[in-house]
Amino acid sequence: MIKNIEIKGIAKDTLDFILEVSRSTYPNEFAGLLEAEDGIITDVLFLPGTESSESNAVLKLFMMPNTSAVGSVHSHPSSIIRPSKADLRLFSKTGTRHIIAGHPYGHKNWKCYDGTGQIVDLPVLDVDLGDEDVL
Ligand code: ZN
Repeated sequence: MIKNIEIKGIAKDTLDFILEVSRSTYPNEFAGLLEAEDGIITDVLFLPGTESSESNAVLKLFMMPNTSAVGSVHSHPSSIIRPSKADLRLFSKTGTRHIIAGHPYGHKNWKCYDGTGQIVDLPVLDVDLGDEDVL
């Protein structure tokens, strides 16, 4: 099931986490699905046994059953932050927000695309994911 809810942005901690995992996986690729709460992307669902080649990672995304994902995320060790043809096929089937992070995975080395492969603005939001009783 794909949720087509309006996405306001991504939590800063979640983006930091994505970049960190991209760095630690390098030179291999990682892929995952994005999950949102109240329209803010706060979770990454990792794919078990993601392999190093782009096509494998993308194929594994297709096989994920019944997720509530709003989109996908994967890394490009090539540092080219542009969706491949396989990526575009995936984007059209797995939600409305798709992050590609490119080597060296700094804070500017990522872009977000919509389901048709157009670049969309994904605000990075400073939300607190842990302490719910802070007012
Ligand atoms: Zn790709």
